[in-house]
Amino acid sequence: MKKLFALLLLVCGSSSLSFAKPLPADTLPVRGFCIAAPRAEGLAPFLKFIDTELAPRHINTLVLRVDFNYQFKSHPELRDAGGLTEQQVKQLVQTCRKHNIRLIPQINLLGHQSWAGTTSNLLKVYPDFDETPWVKMPVNYVWPNADGLYCKSYCPLHPGVHKIVFELVDEICDVFESTAFHAGMDEVFYIGEDKCPRCGGRDKAELFAGEVWTIRNHLAQKGRELWMWGDRLLDGKLTGLGAWEASMNNTHRAVDLVPKDVVICDWHYERPDKTPVYLAMKGLSVITCPWRMPANAKLQLKDMYDYRASATKEMKPRFQGMMQTVWSDAAGFLDEFYGTGKPQKDTVNTSANCFRAVFTK
Ligand SMILES: [Zn+2]
Repeated sequence: MKKLFALLLLVCGSSSLSFAKPLPADTLPVRGFCIAAPRAEGLAPFLKFIDTELAPRHINTLVLRVDFNYQFKSHPELRDAGGLTEQQVKQLVQTCRKHNIRLIPQINLLGHQSWAGTTSNLLKVYPDFDETPWVKMPVNYVWPNADGLYCKSYCPLHPGVHKIVFELVDEICDVFESTAFHAGMDEVFYIGEDKCPRCGGRDKAELFAGEVWTIRNHLAQKGRELWMWGDRLLDGKLTGLGAWEASMNNTHRAVDLVPKDVVICDWHYERPDKTPVYLAMKGLSVITCPWRMPANAKLQLKDMYDYRASATKEMKPRFQGMMQTVWSDAAGFLDEFYGTGKPQKDTVNTSANCFRAVFTK
């Protein structure tokens, strides 16, 4: 009997391995694309890209990283110069609606409040919210540096921070007419700093989970879902995934503390690690996010199908699908995609190639 079982396993195993035909992602619940929202002057070509590239590939979810690229009425002081107008956002809404694409705006909450040597608008205008006000922004940013500065965070226990950021969140969700909001929350290196008068000495996993709960509960009042990146919920040391794709500052224990109805965007760009199984077994819904390695992305896509095929009926809905992530701006990506920009050094591992590998027309 054991031998027969082993033989069956061998046959089934080899048949799945010999599945050489490229797998389109068009039967997964989430077939996503994530990119910075276009600048106002780049809106028209981006709308065309939705019509001619996203829709024919059956993309059904578009996450747009807006941050301060919108002419917020609630907080004009936080606007980027030349941000999208309400009327321009409505063009995005209508184009996506035409193709049944769920449009989800993102503003980075908690972490990513600065980049390299530049502080983002929230901490520039409200420096009191800074978790590490003693860390001064360098003129010439280098990594690594003595402060361990990657990106600044806001202090999740500052009594004034949520009023401001939730006014932004509400306004952006209203104008995007969205049923979900992506809060970022990735790569939070500064959290629970000893020198912060509010956070010092507190448990970093509890602080992180507390912030997830606060944002989730706010969104739930209007029936909106919270989406976020998953790296802070993975143990970087134990898994060998390191400080970016996972956490090296003990926030990973938050995986058992966060609400189960958040959607985790599980990005892995260097190796196709099978972390969706871990997150799904913690009760969380997971979307695998590749970036620029088509070979890895194809493995991640095959894995996503395998997880769904082999899961219990309880687990299967947690394996939600795939989302291509793009980290150049929208105009830069369109140049790359259509080959109109400057030639790239690596012509294989590009986000455009990765996108085409996962989502075939
Ligand atoms: Zn703090």
